[in-house]
Amino acid sequence: MPNPSTALSTVVIVGSGIAGASAAQTLRSEGFRGRVVLIGDEPSPPYRRPTVSKDLLSGAIAAEKAALKPDSFWDEQDIELIAGATAVELDARQKTLTLSSGETLHFSALLLATGGRARRLDGVSGADVFTLRSMADADPLRASIQRTGSLLVIGGGLIGCEVAATARSLGAEVTVLERDPSLLSRIVPPDVSTMIAALHSDNDVDVCTNVALVSLHMSGDGSAVATAADGRTWSAGTVLVSVGTVPEVTLAVAAGLRVDNGITVDGHFRTSADGVFAAGDAADIPGARNGERYRSEHWNGAQAQGIAAAHSILGNPVPFKDVPWGWSTQYGHTVQFAGATRFDDDYVVRGSIADRDFTAIAVRDNTPVGAIAVGRPKDLRTVRTMIAQGGTVDRTALADESVALTDVPAGERKGLVTPAR
Ligand SMILES: Cc1cc2nc3c(=O)[nH]c(=O)nc-3n(C[C@H](O)[C@H](O)[C@H](O)COP(=O)(O)OP(=O)(O)OC[C@H]3O[C@@H](n4cnc5c(N)ncnc54)[C@H](O)[C@@H]3O)c2cc1C
Repeated sequence: MPNPSTALSTVVIVGSGIAGASAAQTLRSEGFRGRVVLIGDEPSPPYRRPTVSKDLLSGAIAAEKAALKPDSFWDEQDIELIAGATAVELDARQKTLTLSSGETLHFSALLLATGGRARRLDGVSGADVFTLRSMADADPLRASIQRTGSLLVIGGGLIGCEVAATARSLGAEVTVLERDPSLLSRIVPPDVSTMIAALHSDNDVDVCTNVALVSLHMSGDGSAVATAADGRTWSAGTVLVSVGTVPEVTLAVAAGLRVDNGITVDGHFRTSADGVFAAGDAADIPGARNGERYRSEHWNGAQAQGIAAAHSILGNPVPFKDVPWGWSTQYGHTVQFAGATRFDDDYVVRGSIADRDFTAIAVRDNTPVGAIAVGRPKDLRTVRTMIAQGGTVDRTALADESVALTDVPAGERKGLVTPAR
């Protein structure tokens, strides 16, 4: 990968989500005095996206309360925020970026922080069929849920589960249809999946698994009817399609950048084009272990990447040693995730999954690689440090609640990465 440009006068950032906004702020806090332009195609200034499926969707907070910063912040920081503008063409050689307005910006460095968009299902559409990604999606979805009183959630992942919980708080009848045998089945072990399904059942959500959806059509009365291959049918007034996120790489692909599962970057967030960087949900970044690559899809990961990318842009790259983590809040319970967890990992459990008070630590070759916790934020922080240190641990002590996690004897430290922040 080429080196970053050293003569910086203008840094242009495409995408005003947390990755882009954090990069802009970091450029300023690190003393960069040149021009910083932050372009976002959403009409609003940067905001806390996780609120979209929670407080914004429920109506508990107004849009202004979700703002990342007071409106005056961007001017005060001399960050040129251009909201409601789409970057449509990138010429990485000429170092120009063209906006939908026709304006062309010249840059010395460019950060692609274009995030992701909700995956759609072919042939599934209609007036009350929604996806959920941005602030602008929340009001129409809430209005439809309140008007129809019933919601069919297609896809039992994190966003689907959160929307199910929020829709219950709005008094709707809710059904979740999941293709796999269990909820969140790619990232949590069976017991945790069962606990999450029970959480929804306790709140009167109908959770249906092993659903091979074959059709979704609108009936005469305006409701949607979903039919599975095994003949089961469900009907509801409102449908949410929440079947995953795809990285927003349109600009990068058209510009000829290397793209795989996202925009390919090296450990310093440099893309295959000189002076062009990428971070956040759009970026495919190297993991802690040789050859591993991943896309974060979590708020804190996108923030940490934006900050690190800004350092690289300034020519002061810092080793990026983040152990990714995220959270999901459903019915007042916060589930936290760290590292790389898989359904089929071997887990050591502290506490009680059934009681919704536990830390489940994924262990491979006696080395912690990930964790899921409910009600135990301190544990999660400690496990992130263990993962970062990359050594083996004594499994018996790991499982023993009378031994504090911080006191679990370590085996050999492999020094994969430095401790988590
Ligand atoms: C509903 C929802 C709830 C979530 N809840 C949680 C949670 O509880 N916990 C958690 O850890 N994570 C959560 N996440 C994930 C987290 O919000 C994301 O990982 C994070 O926001 C990614 O940040 P980003 O800056 O990389 O991308 P984004 O936030 O997607 O921002 C990218 C921005 O770039 C804009 N853009 C794209 N292309 C262009 C272009 N060509 N020109 C101009 N602008 C462009 C996009 O419109 C968008 O505004 C949630 C995500 C969603 C959708």
